[in-house]
Amino acid sequence: LKPTALPTRAGALLLAAALAIAPPLAQAQVRLPALGESAGEEFSLSTERTLGQQIMREIRRDPAYLDDPPLLDYVQRIWQPLVEAARQRGEITPDTAQQLAFEVFLVRDRSVNAFALPGGYVGVHLGLIAMTTSADELAAVLAHELTHVTQRHIARGVVNAQRITLLSLAGLILGVLAASRAGSSDGVQAAVVGSQAAAAQGQLNYTRDMEREADRVGFGVLADAGYAPAGMASMFEKLDAANRLNDSGAFPYLRSHPLTVERISEARARIALGAPGPKSDRIEHALMAARARVLMDPGPEGLRRQQQRAAITLAPGAASVSTAEQLGALYGGALATLLLGDEAAADATVAKAQKLLREHPAAPAERAFRQLQAQIALQRGDAPAAWRLLDGQGDARWTLLLRGQVALALWRGGGAAACAGAAASAASAAAAAAAAVGAARCDAPAAAALRDSGEALRSWVATHANDALAWAMLAQTEDALGQPLRALRAQAESHVALGDIAGAIDRLRAAQSLARGGSANDFIEASVIDARLRQLQAQQREIAAALRSGK
Ligand SMILES: [Zn+2]
Repeated sequence: LKPTALPTRAGALLLAAALAIAPPLAQAQVRLPALGESAGEEFSLSTERTLGQQIMREIRRDPAYLDDPPLLDYVQRIWQPLVEAARQRGEITPDTAQQLAFEVFLVRDRSVNAFALPGGYVGVHLGLIAMTTSADELAAVLAHELTHVTQRHIARGVVNAQRITLLSLAGLILGVLAASRAGSSDGVQAAVVGSQAAAAQGQLNYTRDMEREADRVGFGVLADAGYAPAGMASMFEKLDAANRLNDSGAFPYLRSHPLTVERISEARARIALGAPGPKSDRIEHALMAARARVLMDPGPEGLRRQQQRAAITLAPGAASVSTAEQLGALYGGALATLLLGDEAAADATVAKAQKLLREHPAAPAERAFRQLQAQIALQRGDAPAAWRLLDGQGDARWTLLLRGQVALALWRGGGAAACAGAAASAASAAAAAAAAVGAARCDAPAAAALRDSGEALRSWVATHANDALAWAMLAQTEDALGQPLRALRAQAESHVALGDIAGAIDRLRAAQSLARGGSANDFIEASVIDARLRQLQAQQREIAAALRSGK
């Protein structure tokens, strides 16, 4: 385990939040029944699920929780085949598959770490993605963490812990996340949280046997999923080399997973047994590792460091660099430059990459650079160019969200005014409202783009109800389309997806009073809102009851 490294300040807040969610819960905590009262008592799958959901509700609201669509999509594409292989091998039983989430998420942290939480959630630090050179290496770590979940190591650890309640356990795990952050310098709070964390760690650390099992079973999962088995050994070697050079605490993974000679040699021995895996896409990995490097250190100084890193890699006299490394450097350099606000220079860097890609075609990289180019155009204020760049680029999540953003920019940048009539100005609230109501019928290209984007987002959330970003984008789109009730409901769903049920209830109440005020005459939407509100209120009571009973 050793889940580490949400920022200490935020982590301490999380801990406080987990321990004092609401007055009834705080009182109930005193008389919570203990889990694992007898040694043989099972920490049931449903208990583990409830605990995991509670922890994730807190984590999703932490600033370190990162939903970066391109990077998350990439990591999910590495993760899914591992889950599928574990299912095929029978490591994931139908019961476990139904109860646990098997969800991977990103933590904006430059230290090298990955960790499994109760309920089947696996967190991946950007620092880990940044230091790997292939999907195989990243998959090796994910397969190990997945195995901690499938072998129910967390549950077994919890059963060993005595007289611990579900609610206090959630708080303790969040405390571990906070306190074991690499190089924590926030003295007082760290000390307070640290003592809690030490208690939790004593209860939740995996045993050496569990680690060996995670290596052994994880290796089988890795190979069955089609990754090169050598990924595990090369990952270990990399960590080992880093360990020798660096004891600054930048590698929390090493503290929880000490590399013994035995672990490394076992990994090497297993390669001999396994079949060679398929050649993974080094270019796409290089791009995503560069993206992780940029996003894990997004202040101006960090961004300038990434620009310099790109310049050094690409310098004419530099040591021989592979195409993947060159494209990774160009991608990281262009993204850092864009985030620093220099669109012209970012565009020039993308052009260099596209020239290189003409000599070495690679579809995923071409798509990634095109999306970056659209972002550059949007930031430059050229929404029509951004719209053209995204045309025919498929319906992946990132494309959908980018198109939503561009459609709103087109609308706000003149489309609204065009629909309100030549004389009207979008700056006038009345004209903007008139335009919004008219967007449903208006012929202006911006209105068509907005309707298109709204339709695409509505059908996306119908099958991806947990997508907070898509709901938030839909909320803005509905608002521009003159649908305030739908906009409020989409806002509410965005809060639900982030685990903020109280915030969602607030939005739905606001929608109810808007509907009653008669300013929006949409009876069907109003009844949908009433029903959803009742549902969420019931859900809120259920969560409170589950935490109180410890089930
Ligand atoms: Zn482990």
